[in-house]
Amino acid sequence: MKRIFAANWKLNKTPEQAREFLIQFKNEIFKISHFFDTREVFIFPQAYSFEAVSTLCAGTSIEFGPQNIYSQSSGAFTGENSAAMAKDLGAKMALIGHSERREIFKESDQVLNQKALHVESLQMTSVFCIGETLQQRESHQTLPICFSQLDQGLAGVSREKRIVVAYEPVWAIGTGKVATTQQVAEVHQAIYDKLEARGFKDFQILYGGSVKPENAAELFKVPHVDGFLIGGASLDVASFLKICLA
Ligand code: PEP
Repeated sequence: MKRIFAANWKLNKTPEQAREFLIQFKNEIFKISHFFDTREVFIFPQAYSFEAVSTLCAGTSIEFGPQNIYSQSSGAFTGENSAAMAKDLGAKMALIGHSERREIFKESDQVLNQKALHVESLQMTSVFCIGETLQQRESHQTLPICFSQLDQGLAGVSREKRIVVAYEPVWAIGTGKVATTQQVAEVHQAIYDKLEARGFKDFQILYGGSVKPENAAELFKVPHVDGFLIGGASLDVASFLKICLA
C-alpha cells in the first residue's frame, strides 16, 4: 500500500505562493525516481489558491482537494464551497471534519456526515478527520470520542468505496506536542479494528498533529499509520519533502 502525505495549508498561501511551492516541489520530486510508486501526495489549498494548484498539478500524480465543502453542489448558500466545482477543477478528494472546523466553526457530527455522503455521491474520497481534545484524553474519553465521531460521521457511507480517516489529537495540532508512538499505536489499532468491524473494505488511516521531518520516521514504525496529515510542516517545500522521504 502506498503511503499518503497530505498537506493541509489551512488559511495560508496566496495563489502566487501556492504556484511557487508546487514549481519547487515538482522540481524536487522529479529528481527522485519512482517517487509515486510508493507514495501518494494530497494538497489541500485555501479556496482562492485552488485554481493555481489545479493548474500546476494537472498531468502529475499530485492530488488535491478542498479543505471544507458544503453538503450541496450549488444554490443559495452564500459563502460556501462546492465539492462539485472543485471536482470540475480536478479534485478527487475533500478534507472533512478537521478539528478547526469542528471547534471554531461548530460543525457537528451530523453536518459532517452530510458532507461525507455528499462527497461520496460525487465519486470523490473523504479524508475524514477525528480526534480528542486534551480534556477528553485526560478523562479517558479518547476511544469513545473517536468511535462516536467515526460512527456518526460515516453513518450510511459506502463500505465498498475508499475512505481515508485522519486521526488528529486536537491537543497535538499546531502545538508542537506530538502524540507518543504508544498513544498513536493504541488509537490507530482501535480505529483499524473499528473500520474493519464496520465492513469498510478500502481504508487508510493517517496520523496528524505536529508531524515534522524529525519525528516522521519514528511515527511510520507504528502499525496502521498509513501516512500523515501535515499542517505547519507542509508549508515549506524542504520540510514537506523530508517528511515524504522519511
Ligand atoms: C493539521 O492542520 O491537520 C495539522 C496536523 O497541523 P500541524 O501539522 O501543524 O500540527
